Amino acid sequence: MKAAVSLNDLVVRGLVGEAEAPALLPVEQAFRIRVTGAMEGAIANRADPVARQFLPDVQELEVRDGELFDPIGDEAHSPVKGLTHRYPDRCILHVTKTCEVYCRFCFRREAVGDEGHLTEAEIIAALDYVAVNPQIREVVLTGGDPLVLSTRRIKDLVARIGAIASVETLRVHTRIPVVAPERVTGELAETLGKSRLSVVVVVHTNHAQEITDGAKLALGRLRGAGIMLLSQSVLLRGVNDSLDALEGLFRELMRNGVKPYYLHHCDLARGVSHFRTTLADGMALMAGLRGRLSGPLLPTYVIDIPGGFGKVPVNPAYVVPAGAPKEWRITDWKGGVHRYTDS
Ligand SMILES: *Cc1c(COP(=O)(O)O)cnc(C)c1O
Ligand code: SF4
Repeated sequence: MKAAVSLNDLVVRGLVGEAEAPALLPVEQAFRIRVTGAMEGAIANRADPVARQFLPDVQELEVRDGELFDPIGDEAHSPVKGLTHRYPDRCILHVTKTCEVYCRFCFRREAVGDEGHLTEAEIIAALDYVAVNPQIREVVLTGGDPLVLSTRRIKDLVARIGAIASVETLRVHTRIPVVAPERVTGELAETLGKSRLSVVVVVHTNHAQEITDGAKLALGRLRGAGIMLLSQSVLLRGVNDSLDALEGLFRELMRNGVKPYYLHHCDLARGVSHFRTTLADGMALMAGLRGRLSGPLLPTYVIDIPGGFGKVPVNPAYVVPAGAPKEWRITDWKGGVHRYTDS
């Protein structure tokens, strides 16, 4: 099934009511629409966790104080076009601005959606930068969604990154195995799997309802090619901000060989306040999951500090100073409080 790419498509397919459409026109003008066949198939009703991620909502027009065009500050650390080098040992390469879906909560929503990928000259400049900065051990492909590139271009890129001797790991951040699983062909999996680099695919997914049979097949294909699979999710109000939803997601990921890696606090992108939880809510959810889920199923809850200062874990306070030197108060997973003394 072809992707729905306009408000009109959504109406024609019955995803948005005709009466609702006029109010959504300004939303369409502000932020691009795209829902793949796989995600359309996963939507059961207008208010479910999949629909909320992809169908436009008038609440997107409400911009709060403090919301930003570039919430995570990618521009602040960009030495060459398309490349962000914030941490010494790794850099991210925005190979394209295109995605298979346009998520309503996207943290790069002001940057994604334009047609086109990095040009050959821009890729040469970015890879030259990596080559002359041997402290970079890992190249992270992102976007947009890097896997929208043709397999031929991905092959070429993987080979050229692999040719830089100081690079050890190639990480690919992508929503495609879930939202457009048919694009994960055997050839693509093999291309990634047979590189000399350690290849990690970080699958972006936010709810178990997104992980269709097609997605399971795509994930199996990547695993079968020897690729390490991690996941990244965004904590989203009305989508996955409950213990049951998060447990369901992380269990489904592990069933498919994916280790939950990061749960992101929703960034201060413009017009996404209806998706944002408070940090206190997020910490309470993480505390609730500990004990309920085994260690490997627990991601790290992180926040990207606005302004380009990077990501840090947001941890429930299990261990706090107890007043006297060397004295600590430690709360266990059931809420029991214990004293601990450094010695
Ligand atoms: C998130 C991010 C990374 C990757 O960080 P990890 O903690 O290694 O996942 C690297 N560079 C930039 C600029 C980032 O925003
Ligand atoms: S796939 Fe990622 S980059 Fe693209 S719209 Fe969704 S959240 Fe944004």
